[in-house]
Amino acid sequence: MKKSITITYNDYAVSEQVANLLKEKLCRAGFDARFTYDGSEELLVAIGGDGAFLKAMHDFHFPKIPIVGVNTGHLGFFQDIQPDELDVFIHAYQNANYSIQEIYPLSADIFYKDRVRSVKAINDIVLRSSLGKTVHLDLRINGTFIECFRGDGLIISSTTGSTAYNYSAGGAIVDPSIKTLQLTPLAPLNTNAYRSFTSSIISSWDSDIKIGTEESDRNHISLLLDGVQKHYNDFKQLQVTTCKESIHLVRMQNYEFWNKVTDKFL
Ligand code: NAP
Ligand code: MN
Repeated sequence: MKKSITITYNDYAVSEQVANLLKEKLCRAGFDARFTYDGSEELLVAIGGDGAFLKAMHDFHFPKIPIVGVNTGHLGFFQDIQPDELDVFIHAYQNANYSIQEIYPLSADIFYKDRVRSVKAINDIVLRSSLGKTVHLDLRINGTFIECFRGDGLIISSTTGSTAYNYSAGGAIVDPSIKTLQLTPLAPLNTNAYRSFTSSIISSWDSDIKIGTEESDRNHISLLLDGVQKHYNDFKQLQVTTCKESIHLVRMQNYEFWNKVTDKFL
């Protein structure tokens, strides 16, 4: 049976062009390349920017099959392959000349009304006010009450998300070999009236982070999962830790994290 590969792409015309070209090249190389997905494939290709990679992860429910990114977007932190390197990639893939980066998504339970919703995110989960006001968030780590945070909101970032929103908000870039959960405040109030941490807090990946809110804020909390906004009426609590199951990102042999950081950021 032919080995099958699913190709996904974002809305940009250039991504569609690259997707068609890649399909053609993969078919010529003996693969069954398709635009549909049923989970039985041996590889998933996401064409676009980091947003396309993140969307594919959510759309396909954080699949177990390896995923590789082709960058037609802006930054492309997840996307190792450039559109003019499709032949190089196919050759490397056929010869197993690549490595797998294990990425551990965040795993969260959202308590609202009398319900619980379980979600995952690769980069980050952000809690903020949907009205643009300050939020009041009670933060607990491993059962210990840390603070009643006041400010614009909190970012809960995975190791992988450390270079995304977390970094823009002053959080630390974390080496991918270190498994962490990072809490980064957004415009924390730190006055005689309110005391909130002004730096990030980095805890172990398996920490149990609980964030609750006051009665008055419960209908005005907005949650962002990898940048996609969700609203939960009567929001009560968010409980976050890290998934024990990783997703498998295909990296080309020349991939090196700090090289990517300097290449993309400096
Ligand atoms: P977006 O608005 O296009 O993303 C903002 C930028 O973050 C893009 O340049 C994106 O790369 C880049 N990015 C995404 N994941 C990254 C990572 N792990 N490391 C380094 N850069 C990364 O929206 P999007 O593409 O759908 O990405 C969603 C993410 O945007 C969220 O998870 C959040 O972390 C981030 N975000 C950042 C800010 C901020 O920095 N002020 C605000 C909101 C959200 P591409 O150009 O390749 O897409
Ligand atoms: Mn983007």
